[in-house]
Amino acid sequence: MKRSTSSTKRASKRQKVSNVTSSTRNHDKEKETLEWPEYYHDALNTVLAFVSSRRHLATTFPMIRSSAEGLLKRPLELSKVAELKALLPDVVEFAYIPHSDLRIHGETVSQQKKRSNSPDFTLHSQPLAIDTLSGSRLPGHEEEEHVLVLEFAENFRTTKPGNLVDKRNQRFKEAVDELMKATPEGEVSIDLLQAAARDHIPVNPSANRALPANDSQNLIIPEPKDRPSIDDILLEVQKQQWYKNQIADRRTFKEKVAIEGLLAEPLSHTIQQALQESRNITSLYYHQAAAINAIAQRKHVIVSTSTASGKSVIYQVPLLKFLEENSSATAIFIYPTKALAQDQRTALEQLLWACPGLQHIKVATYDGDTPQDHRRTIRETASVIFTNFDMLHASILPHEELWRTFIKNLKLVAVDELHYYSNLFGSHVAQIIRRFRRICTAVGNQRVIFVSCSATISKPSQHMKRLFGVEDVEEIVEDGAPSGKKDYLVWDPSVKDMDPGLAKLGQSGPMYEAINLMIFLMMRGVRVILFCKIRRACELAMKALRQRLSAEGRLDVLAKVMPYRGGYSQEDRRRIEHEAFSGHLLGIVATNALELGVDIGVLDAVIMLGFPFGIANFRQQAGRAGRRSRDSLAVLVAEDLPIDRNYVKFPDKLYDQSIDDLTVDIESKVIIEAHLQCAAHEMPLSKDDIFYFGASLGELCDSKLRKDKDGWYHPHPKFLPYPAKHVSIRGADDDKYTIIDVTKVGLPNGVPRIIEEIELSRAIFELYEGGVFMHQGLTFIVKEVSHDTKVARLVRADVNWITKPRDYRNVDAMQTHRIKEIARSPHRAHFGRVDVTTVVFGFRKIRGNKVLDVVDVDTPPYERQVTGFWFDVPKDLLGLMKKKCFNLAEAIHSASHAWMNRFSLSPDLRTECKAAEKEYNKEESQRKRPARLIFYDASRKGSVSAQAFDHSGEVLRQAHDTVETCPCKDGCDKCIHSATCSKGNVVASKIGALLILKALLNLDIDANGVATQFGSQGFETIVEATYIRPLDGVQVEPA
Ligand SMILES: [Zn+2]
Ligand SMILES: [Zn+2]
Repeated sequence: MKRSTSSTKRASKRQKVSNVTSSTRNHDKEKETLEWPEYYHDALNTVLAFVSSRRHLATTFPMIRSSAEGLLKRPLELSKVAELKALLPDVVEFAYIPHSDLRIHGETVSQQKKRSNSPDFTLHSQPLAIDTLSGSRLPGHEEEEHVLVLEFAENFRTTKPGNLVDKRNQRFKEAVDELMKATPEGEVSIDLLQAAARDHIPVNPSANRALPANDSQNLIIPEPKDRPSIDDILLEVQKQQWYKNQIADRRTFKEKVAIEGLLAEPLSHTIQQALQESRNITSLYYHQAAAINAIAQRKHVIVSTSTASGKSVIYQVPLLKFLEENSSATAIFIYPTKALAQDQRTALEQLLWACPGLQHIKVATYDGDTPQDHRRTIRETASVIFTNFDMLHASILPHEELWRTFIKNLKLVAVDELHYYSNLFGSHVAQIIRRFRRICTAVGNQRVIFVSCSATISKPSQHMKRLFGVEDVEEIVEDGAPSGKKDYLVWDPSVKDMDPGLAKLGQSGPMYEAINLMIFLMMRGVRVILFCKIRRACELAMKALRQRLSAEGRLDVLAKVMPYRGGYSQEDRRRIEHEAFSGHLLGIVATNALELGVDIGVLDAVIMLGFPFGIANFRQQAGRAGRRSRDSLAVLVAEDLPIDRNYVKFPDKLYDQSIDDLTVDIESKVIIEAHLQCAAHEMPLSKDDIFYFGASLGELCDSKLRKDKDGWYHPHPKFLPYPAKHVSIRGADDDKYTIIDVTKVGLPNGVPRIIEEIELSRAIFELYEGGVFMHQGLTFIVKEVSHDTKVARLVRADVNWITKPRDYRNVDAMQTHRIKEIARSPHRAHFGRVDVTTVVFGFRKIRGNKVLDVVDVDTPPYERQVTGFWFDVPKDLLGLMKKKCFNLAEAIHSASHAWMNRFSLSPDLRTECKAAEKEYNKEESQRKRPARLIFYDASRKGSVSAQAFDHSGEVLRQAHDTVETCPCKDGCDKCIHSATCSKGNVVASKIGALLILKALLNLDIDANGVATQFGSQGFETIVEATYIRPLDGVQVEPA
C-alpha cells in the first residue's frame, strides 16, 4: 500500500521541480480526463452516501457492489475500487476487517426490530460470543473471519446525502486533476493510477493463514539484525505522505565506547571462567570494577548508571567471592517485582552452575507465593534468597529466630532498582531496613554489606544513606558500558490537527500518530515499545494496532505485537515477557509496569505516547531502547496537554533539566511508630535504639508502646499478636474486583475464565454494565457487576466502539480535627476527615471522535473516608475575582497543584482536579463546589496528609514564590501544572493561582492592578466554602 501513495507523491514532487506545462499539454490532459472511468465513482458515491447516512449499516463490499452494479448496469471490478483507493488513500477505506468488527452497535441494533431488514442484520444477530479463545494461546491471536468493507471516511454526517455526493465527486475530480498535473511527461496518468491500484487490491487475511505469497517487496519485514539504520529510517519518514513536519525537535547522542575497569585483586580463575562461560564476560566495565573494589574494602556501594549497563555483576561477583572464601556465606537479593526477581535468579543460577566448586549452592525465591511447607527448607538450605521488602517486613523479621543462622552468615544484601523506593513506600522501607540492621547486630553480625543499583537518579549516595541509615557509602556514577548512537525526537501531532480534513478522518492526534509510527518502524524490522501512561490508553492503542494491521492484512506483524501492563495475570505476563525476551516480538504496548528492569531483550525504539510522569520516567523509558553497538530511537509523541506542549516549545528541558530528588521521610512519627511496634515485637526496644530510629524514639516509646518493669518496651497490645499485619507498607487499598470472562459458559466445555483483577479504585471507572472493557486490546462487554462479591462478568464481543465513563468526584471536608495558623496571615489551614465520593452515572459510546450514544447507568457511588486538609479561599478575594471575571475553578485548581508541586511527598496526596467538560460546559452545572484548596491521602491507610498539614503554611509560601517568579507565561510543570493531574491541567490559570496564594498568605494585592479576564465567561461552578465544624476542644495551633 505504501508504494502507491509514494508513487503519486513522487509524481507530484517531480512536477513541482520541473513545473513545465505548455498549453498544448494541458489540452491533452483535458482530453484524458474525459476518458476517466467516471462511471464507477459516481455510482459508488451515490450508494455510499446513502449507506453512510444510516450509521447502523456496515458497508460491506458485497452489499455496496450489488447496489452499485444495479445503478451501473454492468459489473464493478475490485480493481476499479482499488483505483479509487489509490487516488484518495486517506479518504477511501477499502480493506478486510475482522468479521466481528461489523457488529456496530451490537446491542442497540438487536433491540431495534426495524433494522432486521438491513442487509447486515444477519451479521448483528449472530451470537455475541465467539468461540475462538483457545486456552493454549494468548487471547487476541485467535483466528477470525474477515469481511471486505468499503467506506468513505470523511465525516460529512450533517450534510444532506445530495450534497455529500457532490462534495465527494468534487474531491474526486480534484484528485484526478492533481494527478494529471503531476504526471511527468511521457507517462499516462491512468496507467500510473492503475499500477498504484494493484497494491490496493485487498487481501483477505483469513483466506490464507500463511500470508499471501505476495511479490511486493513491502511485505517482507527485515530481520531486526538486517534492519536499516535509524538515520535512513528517519529520512524515509520525512518522505511519507503522512509526514507534515511533526518532528519538532531532534537530538542525536553519539555512540560511546566501553570504558574498562581494573580490579584491585584479580578474580579467581574459577570465577573468571564462570563469567566467561555463562555470560561471555572477559573484562569488566569501569563501574563494575569500581563497585567490586569498594565491596572488597567492605564499603556499602550505590551504582547509578544507565539501563542494561550490567549492574547485576556488581553484586553477583562479590557473592561468588564470599562463597569461595566460606561456603556457608549467605546473601539476600531484593527486587521490587517478582518478575525481576525471577529473571535475576535464573541468571545467578547459571553463573553458579558454571563455577566449579559452587555448583551445589542453593538459590531460592522467597516471596508471597512460596508455599508454607517450602519455607523451612529454604531457610535451612538456601545460600541466597530472592525476596522483597514486603516479605522482609511481614515474614522474615517477625520470625527472626527461625532465620538466625542465615542472618549470622549474611555477607551481602543487594537492593536492585533503588529508585523504586521513594515517597511513602520508600519511607516504610527505610524503617524496615533499620529493623533489619538492628536484628543483624543483635545476632552478632555487624559486617553486612549493602549494595544497591539504580537507574540514573540525582544524589544517589544521599538517597542510599537516608534509606539504609548507613554512612560509608561509595557512590559510583561513571557509566563504563558502551552505548550505540541514539536519536531523540519530539513528535508534535498538532501540526496535523491544523488540517481539518485529517482531523475529521481521525487520522491525526497523538494516538493515531504513535501507532502510525510504530507500524512504520515495525515494518522495517525495528523492535519497538510503545509506552502509554495509563492502562486504558495501553488497551486503546492495542485495539487500534489490531484494527490497522488487520485492515492492511498484516496479521504477520499483528502476531508479533503484544500489550503488557499491570493487572494481567502473572501467567500471561510471564508468557509475554518470555515471548519478548526470546525475540519473537516486534512490538510491545506497555504501561510503566515495564519501566522497571524486567528484561525483555533488545529493543531498538521507544515511543512514549504523552510525556510520562516526570523527567526521571522519561529518561528511564527512553533508556529501554538501544543496547551496545546498535543505533536506537526514542520518540516523545506530545499529547495536547499543557505539560507536553511545554516540552514541544522548550525541548532542551528534556535533556538539561535535573531529575527531582527522590524523597523518603525518615522523620515521620506516624511511620516510625508503626515500625517501632513491629521492632519491639521482634526484640524488646530500649532507648538505646535511638541509634536506629532517631530522636523521636523516646517520646514514641513512652506514649505508644508498653514498658515492662525492667524498662524494656513492647508493642501496644492492640498490635498483637502480629504487629506487622497492622502495618501496610504499600498503603494501597487491597480490595480488588475479579473480572471473569463468561463468553463460553453454556457452550460445550465452556468454563468461566478469570482474566484480570483490578483495584477497587479503578473498577469503578472500568466496570459498569453495558460498558466496554478492554483486555489485551480485545473488547468485552460488561454484562454484570456485583459490588457485594466484587465480581464482574464479561463476554467477548468485537465491537468497533468503546465506552468512556461519565463520572464526577466530590472531595468534601466533613469534620475538622486540627486547625493551624498560617504565619502572618489571619487565614488558617484545617485538617480532618474528608469524604471522597466517586460516581459513575453513565457512559458514552464512542467511535473515533464520534459519540454514538449517551447511556445512563445506576452504579452505586464509591465512597471513601480519608484524612486530608484544606484552605478556604478568602471571601473578599472571591468578590474581587468575580468582579474581574476570573474563572474560579481554574484558579483553585492551579493553586492546588502549585501547592502540591512544592511538597515532597505529594505523589501520595490527591487534590480535587477540575475537568474541562464540567467547567466549560454550556449548560449550568447543579454540582457547585466550594471555593477551597483541598488535599487528601491517596490511600485509605495513608498518613501523608498529616505530615503535609504540619508544613502546610511553609509550603504555601514556597508555592507562592515559585509561581510568582516562574518565567513561564501561562504556567508550566514547575509552577502550576502537575504531571499527575487526573484532568490533564486543562483547567488552569497562573494569575488566578497567584492571587489565591497571595490572599491566603495575606500578601498585598493591588485590586486596581488586577486585569479583567476575558474568554472564560460561563456558568460559575464554585460557591463560597462553608465552614466545617471542628470537634469539641480543638485548639488553633501556631504556625
Ligand atoms: Zn511556570
Ligand atoms: Zn488537576
